[in-house]
Amino acid sequence: MNIILLGPPGAGKGTQANLLVEHHGMLQLSTGDMLRETRKADTELGRRVAAVMDAGELVSDEIVSAMIDAKLSDMGDEVGAIFDGYPRTEAQAHSLDDILAKHGRKLHHVIELAVDEDALVDRITGRFTCAKCGEGYHERHKQPAQQGVCDKCGSTEFKRRADDTEETVRTRMNEYRAKTAPILPIYDARGIVQRVDGMAAIDDVTTAIEKVLASA
Ligand code: AMP
Repeated sequence: MNIILLGPPGAGKGTQANLLVEHHGMLQLSTGDMLRETRKADTELGRRVAAVMDAGELVSDEIVSAMIDAKLSDMGDEVGAIFDGYPRTEAQAHSLDDILAKHGRKLHHVIELAVDEDALVDRITGRFTCAKCGEGYHERHKQPAQQGVCDKCGSTEFKRRADDTEETVRTRMNEYRAKTAPILPIYDARGIVQRVDGMAAIDDVTTAIEKVLASA
């Protein structure tokens, strides 16, 4: 099964993708994660990607679509794909059609995480993760049980995303509204969009997504 998780920054796409990976053995294809790896490299491309991400703007369609194509080539055909943060433009949506066809895959569901935008700035500017295992936390809503120690793996190292500042978040939201939201009608016309309340508790969002996956 191949699905897209769609929603503005902070909607919970990464959190839900991680849970689907755990429950169903699917693979998360997050272009944001791939680009965060790319920017670590001390190369011309790494520096260019870092500048675009820190401004909250979108990296070029060609770069991200090539990354997705390469990942699918490395994956076994039987493993389901969760597209997280891709596609983000109409051009990417069309590229994804071509890429999926090339790999003999079909798109089963587009799950839209519907959220209240005002709450997103609060969600994003307070979030941080364990540097070792990636478990997600929040300054105001989900501190580790023991201050400074990861609940899951015991690590004492945490990290924040460089682009989770209020100013960058506003630009990322504008980019979502202007360039990403307009791809929904493409998938709506195919009858494969399901809307899930992304403001609900994490477990309830997961249950709603599981229901979609269990439907035809
Ligand atoms: P994310 O982790 O999905 O929030 O992505 C973080 C940043 O990476 C975005 O603000 C963009 O700068 C860049 N990015 C991630 N995915 C894409 C994509 N599909 N197209 C263009 N830029 C992307």
